[in-house]
Amino acid sequence: MTLKRKPSWLRIKVPQGQNLDYVKTILSDYSLNTVCQEANCPNKLECYSKKTATFMILGRECSRNCRFCNISHGELQPVDEMEANNVAEASVKLGLKHVVVTSVTRDDLPDGGASHFAAVINAIKLKDANMIIEVLIPDFRGSEEALKKVVLAQPHIINHNVETVPRLYDDVRPMADYKQSLNLIKQVKEINNRIYTKSGIMVGMGETEKEVTKVMKDLREVGCDFLTVGQYLPPGRDYYPLVEYVTPETFERYKEIGIKLGFSAVASSPLVRSSYNAAEMMEGK
Ligand code: SF4
Ligand code: SF4
Repeated sequence: MTLKRKPSWLRIKVPQGQNLDYVKTILSDYSLNTVCQEANCPNKLECYSKKTATFMILGRECSRNCRFCNISHGELQPVDEMEANNVAEASVKLGLKHVVVTSVTRDDLPDGGASHFAAVINAIKLKDANMIIEVLIPDFRGSEEALKKVVLAQPHIINHNVETVPRLYDDVRPMADYKQSLNLIKQVKEINNRIYTKSGIMVGMGETEKEVTKVMKDLREVGCDFLTVGQYLPPGRDYYPLVEYVTPETFERYKEIGIKLGFSAVASSPLVRSSYNAAEMMEGK
């Protein structure tokens, strides 16, 4: 299938500056991966130039194979025991006030990597007690025990993306379960309701506005505080096909609907990703 020509609102201005090289050097010095790089995020240059990045822990290979995602699926690597400390030190060196940590999904590990997330959170707190910590976590195959390890480490925000509307799960996220993802958000609030919850979806995959609105309602029902909505951009020809470029007006409408439904903040525009301008969503909270 030929990809449709990108509309003007998706063309990216390339930022310049020394921060780009500085971020790259720090990531390389501490042998860290970022989702910015691995998922080939369109905002990478902008975020790096603002000295922000989303660390991707637990290796570069994922145990799942979602049809929209650029992360590779090779041999799973052993957990790097130095990673927690390295993420913490790199965050301090980058001068981050708000750090975002995500991971590949590791269904092969007994707790899905939950204890490693907790170790990273604890290591960051030890280095800088004031840094806002946001974790974007996998579903841990529905294990409340695993989730509890992350919640009890008390990050400020727990993000778990539902990614798309439930009708498209079999094609887009065949190894995930919509209700399980909603339940994860509910369980976070049940264990500690002072932790902010966040989720996100991609649009342009063939979903309808009605379906997107229903996802927003479902998320509010389980106590989701923040929402991100961004344009799906297939990483290449062999991925889930692009159905449409959603217009900026529709993104604005999604934002208005989300705010009316009670989300504390909604970031909805074509280039929004779940960690894009993450710190801004927390402003005033
Ligand atoms: Fe990285 Fe997130 Fe920025 Fe993309 S939006 S470059 S994943 S920090
Ligand atoms: Fe990508 Fe996450 Fe799916 Fe793995 S589980 S393929 S990292 S979206």
